[in-house]
Amino acid sequence: MLTVEDKSSTKSAMITREPTSSQQAGWQQALAAAVTDPRELLAMLELDLALLPAARAAHQQFRLRVPRGFVARMRPRDPADPLLRQVLPLAAELRQMSGFISDPVGDGAATLAPALLSKYSGRALFIASGACAINCRYCFRREYPYGDGIAAAADWAPAFAQLDRLADVDELILSGGDPLTLSDARLHKLGPALARRPWIRRLRIHSRLPVVLPERIDSGFLAWADALPIPLVLVIHTNHANEFDGTVATAMADLRRAGVMLLNQSVLLAGVNDDADALADLSEALFANGVLPYYLHMLDRVRGAAHFEVPEDQARRLAGALAARLPGYLVPRLVREVPGAPGKTPLNSGPVAVVPGDAV
Ligand SMILES: *Cc1c(COP(=O)(O)O)cnc(C)c1O
Ligand code: SF4
Repeated sequence: MLTVEDKSSTKSAMITREPTSSQQAGWQQALAAAVTDPRELLAMLELDLALLPAARAAHQQFRLRVPRGFVARMRPRDPADPLLRQVLPLAAELRQMSGFISDPVGDGAATLAPALLSKYSGRALFIASGACAINCRYCFRREYPYGDGIAAAADWAPAFAQLDRLADVDELILSGGDPLTLSDARLHKLGPALARRPWIRRLRIHSRLPVVLPERIDSGFLAWADALPIPLVLVIHTNHANEFDGTVATAMADLRRAGVMLLNQSVLLAGVNDDADALADLSEALFANGVLPYYLHMLDRVRGAAHFEVPEDQARRLAGALAARLPGYLVPRLVREVPGAPGKTPLNSGPVAVVPGDAV
């Protein structure tokens, strides 16, 4: 159990300094400076202010949040920009659509202790933080009651106590929210807790920060990753090739040098990446940055996200078209999360030859 933390026993504690509260790390300043006002976002991108009333109304339900560096990768004057579409609140979110509910993946039923979920054999998933650097409009946790679990998650002890009661877990997954919104001081407590549990063989982090706020991958974080007692798998989340720029490339290269294994998950989103060219370009951008595609998720049917849904037959055709033009290791597994299933449910069909000019 996590009681007394002996910081002097971790080598990373000696080589990194945690900024004091009056002196925030650069990434924490960038996080705090995110755009949260719909009017400001529209003005930055020189978009029509006619979009404002709807953006404001949907923002009341689930607020706008987007880091400035991510806005800089959007095309000005283009309301259909694939990055903008992921973050701009729209009137469509307010329409009630049957079948779109608040907890589409059954997290409520899988919660064992505050903030610890175990749905699949061998893996336990810890909601390490309720905070995100970006609010994705399609997020399946847009209504997750983070407040309940996160108070308890202020220290790791309850989650590790619960983890110790699970017999077969050899991989701990940090999810959220976004676990990389935690300070380095919080992350540093994890290393010794893992070292005391040698049956945990892998640490996995699911995070959007390395892409939407690459400032997070600073020297303190890299030293922490390097000093972990077990391999670190980082699953980033990108949906479109335009999310990559020079700052992201640098963060990915730094992570690889620190020995971190990099995978990507995407969500298949209408108007963002629902065509074979966009998906192929994304796989190529991932490879160029040393990241392999892992999952392409079907949208979870969360309330407010119906306008992002891609029908399953079209999704299978897209996956087939990708398989026909890319090496196997650049084709993500198309999956759906089915409540109660023992793992993600695969939907890929085999490669499908596409005649040039065909609409997929
Ligand atoms: C998706 C998920 C995992 C990880 O599944 P993998 O197929 O191993 O990537 C683990 N736990 C929960 C609760 C999940 O939703
Ligand atoms: S970063 Fe992840 S958890 Fe946060 S809003 Fe986006 S999809 Fe949801």
